[in-house]
Amino acid sequence: MSAHPVPFLDLKAINARERDALIAAFTRVLDSGWYVLGEEVAAFEREYAQYCGTQFAVGVGNGLDALTLSLRAYRELGRLQVGDEVIVPANTYIATILAISENGLTPVLVEPDLASCNLDAARIAPALTTTTRAILPVHLYGQTADMTAINAVAKEHGLIVIEDSAQAHGARHAGRRAGALGDASGHSFFPSKNFGALGDAGAVTTDDAQFAEVVRALRNYGSREKYVNDRQGVNSRLDELQAALLRVKLQRLDADNARRCAIAGRYLARIRHPAITLPVVTTGNEAVWHVFVVRTPNRAGLQQYLQKCGIGTLIHYPIPPHRQRAYSEWNVRSYPVTERIHAEVLSLPISPVLSDSDADAVITACNAWPG
Ligand SMILES: *Cc1c(COP(=O)(O)O)cnc(C)c1O
Repeated sequence: MSAHPVPFLDLKAINARERDALIAAFTRVLDSGWYVLGEEVAAFEREYAQYCGTQFAVGVGNGLDALTLSLRAYRELGRLQVGDEVIVPANTYIATILAISENGLTPVLVEPDLASCNLDAARIAPALTTTTRAILPVHLYGQTADMTAINAVAKEHGLIVIEDSAQAHGARHAGRRAGALGDASGHSFFPSKNFGALGDAGAVTTDDAQFAEVVRALRNYGSREKYVNDRQGVNSRLDELQAALLRVKLQRLDADNARRCAIAGRYLARIRHPAITLPVVTTGNEAVWHVFVVRTPNRAGLQQYLQKCGIGTLIHYPIPPHRQRAYSEWNVRSYPVTERIHAEVLSLPISPVLSDSDADAVITACNAWPG
């Protein structure tokens, strides 16, 4: 139907812009002869901590491990015990929940706010019990959760706040960046994120020196000094090559996020359809638009229509955690807001390499949908 196909995400085109600098970084690591936990990782950790506005960043193998090792570090420090409850949004990506259950902690699913799709802070207090010890808010789709309200509840009840910043590199709440809004934060640099490596990578950010030291040991067999093991750690290190590539890409992150914002602004101003609900950015938040998520009751109809127009879309996410077989004990539960979000959301193309005419093709197709 359309002469102008728009892929959902063109990672090859995104990374091609940095081809020479990425090859130079690769060559530097190749020629150094040092491939694990060296100068590139140390430099990346300094640069990413500075970017987020935290004292420390610790590079790890991926975003799931960043969250898992954060919770594990609080257990090592005696601030969390097996069986403690952790508040988490019911509509998050499964990795957030896996990090909690992997640690023997109990995820307590709390409904999101329908407009922002982020944790509804007003629903936290009613979900608290005598064993609630932490909140794990997720900055979903590139917008930070309501951290002012979440931190207020946490302070009142003495809870630890661990952010899931996997979708929100550079996003701000009340002027502070994702990763610097709680006690600790997990970041993913999976290739398709706003800030993506060329493979798996992740990091933990924090202002807490003692906590950072424990995560640093846990990622490397629980060792601070070679062949001396203080804790039963794992092997989840950010490698030198990914760190070197991320250092190149970090220089572009703000410009890339600004381009995403420009496209989002274009969509918000021009998509006009009675059956399509546009995303909402809450006052005080600066979103970085990891994905541009619209809602419509006839999601399958819109997705098929856009596909016929050559426009790629994805669903983030088709099945909520409480309906997954991996958590069959939750399958009978009902979370109406979460279920509605999972039934209605559709992600339109957005990326730093999308042109204005690509965006206009998406807008035209949405507005022409007969649905
Ligand atoms: C991508 C993602 C993760 C996991 O990151 P990986 O690097 O793929 O392990 C965790 N939480 C959220 C919200 C994510 O989007």
